[in-house]
Amino acid sequence: MTDSVLPGHPHIAYRGEDLYIEGQRLSDLAQAHGTPLYVYSKASMLDALAAYQRGFAGRKVQICYAMKANSSLAVLQLFARAGCGFDIVSGGELARVLAAGGDPAKVIFSGVGKTRAEMRQALDAGIGCFNVESEAELEVLSAVASQTGKTAPVSIRVNPNVDPKTHPYISTGLKGNKFGVAHERTLATYQRAAALPGLRVAGIDCHIGSQITEVAPYLDAVDRVLDLVQEIEAAGIPIHHIDFGGGLGINYNGDTPPAADALWAQLFAKLDARGYGDRQFMIEPGRSLVGNAGVCLTEVLYLKPGEQKNFCIVDAAMNDLPRPAMYQAFHGIVPVRGPAAASATTYDVVGPVCESGDWIGRDRSLAVQQGQYLAVLSAGAYCASMASNYNTRGRAAEVLVDGDQARLVREREGAADTFRTEKLLP
Ligand SMILES: *Cc1c(COP(=O)(O)O)cnc(C)c1O
Repeated sequence: MTDSVLPGHPHIAYRGEDLYIEGQRLSDLAQAHGTPLYVYSKASMLDALAAYQRGFAGRKVQICYAMKANSSLAVLQLFARAGCGFDIVSGGELARVLAAGGDPAKVIFSGVGKTRAEMRQALDAGIGCFNVESEAELEVLSAVASQTGKTAPVSIRVNPNVDPKTHPYISTGLKGNKFGVAHERTLATYQRAAALPGLRVAGIDCHIGSQITEVAPYLDAVDRVLDLVQEIEAAGIPIHHIDFGGGLGINYNGDTPPAADALWAQLFAKLDARGYGDRQFMIEPGRSLVGNAGVCLTEVLYLKPGEQKNFCIVDAAMNDLPRPAMYQAFHGIVPVRGPAAASATTYDVVGPVCESGDWIGRDRSLAVQQGQYLAVLSAGAYCASMASNYNTRGRAAEVLVDGDQARLVREREGAADTFRTEKLLP
């Protein structure tokens, strides 16, 4: 029996007619745990991490997994055990890191709207760095740190104003965007940080966007950030670490992002040429570590032929797979039992939620029958972590596969779980 590996998904393959993730047959998992069901490959996640680690051999780099991509405790444990720190964006994410045994000293805290309570929580935990996004935030962090008698290590997120050539909703490093401090204001902001009590300038950071599939925007960002480092250090403020953010894309639909090791070879060539190659670096990859490690299994509930469109109605919906509704994003959809039979039909694959925006894939050629399972691909990032209870749908279960072992790492939510914190009127 020959394996037919899905392009861009090294641990997902058809063996004969059945789709496998590592050593597990996906139809068996769907039957055992029900659908919708997220299934992740441990080997895929560790392979993706290894590509970064190869790119960093002999360099001083801390990888901080951007956990908003997939914040399930088992996934965090896996990365913590592999030596990763975490890029967090809320106090809730910090609580998850601690629950998963992550090292708070390797945590960096990003985000434009940190509350005082979150700052206190992070100072108490002893996180590695606050990535500050505005002058107003700097003032508040200084006040909170002074009140608690602690010193907050800070990095300022600079907006390098480069176009990452990605979807506008996931591009973050352009002018006119809510993230970061404008290039022109950077030096003044560092001078303010150096003068304020309770703060210690630790580094500089940027993050230009997400699902980036070209090298050029990164090279531009590196240049612009190094220009700033030079300017800030010339003003007498040492920068201990340089953080280039995350954003490397994955193959959703024939996309061809650079491999992490190849990308970093190019970035280090530039860093070396400019004399910065031996600095302490940080990076914050999210999607590229987990995106193509996961699938979401779903059952075909009904086939509904129409005059203009045929609909394939499945039991996963926009609350489980929010990216198509949010960004018109593409996810591959393949049968769990293949290869496709002779008579394929073109369907819009949609969920049961009462919204026209509840679609998972449009105009897909599929040979399916009611009751069959489909695998929605590239569901490891920004799916489970973005899931909601809309339409009072419980969140789906999650399974982590390691070779021929499969472990349930999140139970399916029941209806009672979705209203557990609510109160009836007297
Ligand atoms: C979302 C985010 C990341 C991770 O982005 P990916 O595209 O998932 O790699 C990294 N840093 C910051 C500040 C982010 O907001």
